Amino acid sequence: MTTFGKTLRNRVKRLPERAAYDRETIYRILDEALICHVGIAVENQPFVIPMIHARRQDSLLMHGATSSRLLRHIQAGNPICVTTTILDGLVVARGVFHNSMNYRSVVLFGVGHILSDPQSKNEALFTLTERVMPGRWDDSRLPTRKELRATTIIELPIESATAKMRMGGPKDDAEDYAGDWWAGVIPIQQSYLPPQPDPKLGREMEAPPYLKNYKR
Ligand SMILES: Cc1cc2nc3c(=O)[nH]c(=O)nc-3n(C[C@H](O)[C@H](O)[C@H](O)COP(=O)(O)OP(=O)(O)OC[C@H]3O[C@@H](n4cnc5c(N)ncnc54)[C@H](O)[C@@H]3O)c2cc1C
Repeated sequence: MTTFGKTLRNRVKRLPERAAYDRETIYRILDEALICHVGIAVENQPFVIPMIHARRQDSLLMHGATSSRLLRHIQAGNPICVTTTILDGLVVARGVFHNSMNYRSVVLFGVGHILSDPQSKNEALFTLTERVMPGRWDDSRLPTRKELRATTIIELPIESATAKMRMGGPKDDAEDYAGDWWAGVIPIQQSYLPPQPDPKLGREMEAPPYLKNYKR
């Protein structure tokens, strides 16, 4: 299935022309975004928690401490909602009402489960590490059994999802285009600066090339 079905839960109502339901678009945004926000409802109280994610095929992987409420909630089989957003620009309109932002966002739904055997946990940690810093796994001390025991890994098969994107300039009211106000877009680009060595490095060391030239 290359496209997620549209349902009452995932159908964008406002400006539906900005929505996309195909896996390619949705997965590209998920893969580019460094963090997500995980939403859960516990006894009528919503909580939204930022987390690191990595997509593996049609699932999201996330990890956390075994004691976290979020992970216990997921372990109990409750549905969760995950969202992520990449900001691409500030849209400056002539009319304040039309100021906006250019973005690519995803909202997805699923019921997660916990990966408990050490081999699956190790593989998931590999995916989470390598997707943020490709090359780091083989250049680090790997997790011990004790560390693996202290870590909970969630696998969330993506049941349903939507992307929504805004791009381009401001969309003002017709009569305002004659006005003398500047309008346009301030593009936003995330950049990574040169690595800063930990003062506790035992000796002078150069950062490895995969970190020195880090970009996404
Ligand atoms: C950076 C940013 C800033 C925004 N600021 C505002 C704002 O100030 N005011 C405002 O009204 N809207 C804002 N939006 C848009 C907002 O996210 C919703 O799209 C909007 O409120 C319309 O929702 P709806 O009523 O169509 O659908 P809802 O009923 O709210 O949602 C129905 C379903 O549509 C999908 N969906 C809705 N929005 C998104 C999305 N952004 N990305 C992916 N899937 C989505 C989900 O699957 C959701 O379950 C912003 C979006 C972004 C990314």
